[in-house]
Amino acid sequence: MEPAPGANVPKKPEETEGETVLSYAYVQDKQFVEVLNARTWEENSDYGGLVLQGACPICGHPDAIDVFVPIVIAAFKAGAEVSKEYAECQCGENHNPPSGKSGCGRWGLVSPRVGGG
Ligand SMILES: [Zn+2]
Ligand SMILES: [Zn+2]
Repeated sequence: MEPAPGANVPKKPEETEGETVLSYAYVQDKQFVEVLNARTWEENSDYGGLVLQGACPICGHPDAIDVFVPIVIAAFKAGAEVSKEYAECQCGENHNPPSGKSGCGRWGLVSPRVGGG
């Protein structure tokens, strides 16, 4: 069967606006930690702790980071030592992760900090 005129015009390969989706890699990432360390954590008095939420510094997708540290905020502000928290990208984008995993896989240990010094 002859293709209709114009039917075999090669289509442009699919470009998602010049953006390639990063492939999943479960690696500890220095940049991931640096960016998250610079972010300010939210105080959550309902749960009694600090919350860090936001986009992943590596893949840039929203709702990727969600870390909660149970802590007495007043004590934290007074200089109490807090151990670093494990943070991992869990964005909703498909990075072809292994089953049971989500996000781009980048992770790191982040130090909680709050605004206002
Ligand atoms: Zn992502
Ligand atoms: Zn990510």
